[in-house]
Amino acid sequence: MSTILFSNASVILEDRVLAEAQVEVVQGRIRAVGAAHGATSDTATRIVDLKGDYLAPGFIDLHVHGGDGADFMDGTDDAFRTVCRAHLRHGTTSLLPTSTVARHEQIIAFLQCCRRQCYGLGERDLWRSDMATRGARVLGAHLYGPYFGADARGCHPAGPLRPPTRAEFQRYLEFADCILRATVAPELPGAEDFVSACRERGIGCNVGHSHATFEQMEAAIAWGVRHVDHLFCAMSDRARLRQEQTYPMRGGVMEATLYFDELTTEVIADGKHLNRELLLLAAKIKGPQRLALVTDCNRALDMPDGDYIFGPRDGGEPIIRRDGVGIMPDGKSLASGVMGMDHAVRTFQHLTQAPLMEVIRMASLTPARIAGRDRDLGSIAPGKVADLVVLDRSLQVRDVYLAGRRV
Ligand SMILES: [Zn+2]
Repeated sequence: MSTILFSNASVILEDRVLAEAQVEVVQGRIRAVGAAHGATSDTATRIVDLKGDYLAPGFIDLHVHGGDGADFMDGTDDAFRTVCRAHLRHGTTSLLPTSTVARHEQIIAFLQCCRRQCYGLGERDLWRSDMATRGARVLGAHLYGPYFGADARGCHPAGPLRPPTRAEFQRYLEFADCILRATVAPELPGAEDFVSACRERGIGCNVGHSHATFEQMEAAIAWGVRHVDHLFCAMSDRARLRQEQTYPMRGGVMEATLYFDELTTEVIADGKHLNRELLLLAAKIKGPQRLALVTDCNRALDMPDGDYIFGPRDGGEPIIRRDGVGIMPDGKSLASGVMGMDHAVRTFQHLTQAPLMEVIRMASLTPARIAGRDRDLGSIAPGKVADLVVLDRSLQVRDVYLAGRRV
């Protein structure tokens, strides 16, 4: 593998944008980043002149279900490749395939695919010959459901919802080598047992689709929960909990997520789920180091408006793609996203006017840290894997590189 020198780039670093800079990539990893110091004398070096375009770290999506007609819960290698290729076109170079509430054997089939499709970050695996056809790296599964609160299930089917039982989740945790994060509603019986079993195996734990009280959230943090899925969506808050207790008013998952520094979280930044003020509130309280952008994208990414299934074709929930988002057939609630991470980055930046390096960080380094892969991924820094995205001045994706190779 030869050396590549990206020249004349506006390099988006963790804390600043470096204009007229260059980035040297050797053997798929970043060797040097800095101000331009003229052409190299090494003739083996390929020079890519970015003509002032942005060079950003590849995006990392912690919460993504599908794209281009396929859902990870279709449970085939083909479906995985289709989704990963689709998101690569939107600048996502790594992702966590996210499951849905489904029957036991469907979740097992999903985990088997994750194991086959998972990328290592060792030298031998860094750039595999089939990478261009496989698309974004599969870092490991986000085991999402079936352990959700019944009232907070959102667009997931009600039938297969269940509380965690050891006999069942032990089967899932046999795949612990390719599960990075797991979600549970802490108010369910068995939730503490599930979180401890995940933590023992090195799996990070999320709260999601939950109507827990603030006190139940405090307990969940003590068990080892450290992240909360899609802030403001499918979660309890003061108003919701007041339906069961008039006074004193209580905080729920939303208030706990904003309050506890131990918790990172994420927003679906498609401009449809959350209005500007909620993105501003999340960014102000959690900051770019604790807030990730996610797509929560379903199979309707890059597809025409119309009817789709969220989750597995067999047993998933009917949804509609309309107006740039997923909607439930009754038109009264949202049903996940239909846009890629490039859109989320542009939308968040446009709505909040946050500095570009902070927005990019929320789509790269922060999710890399939450996934436990920030040693290798998530920023343009010496030693990291050269997963890079070239963006023009209006933040449209021009090119994507995996381990220094254009795909
Ligand atoms: Zn969800």
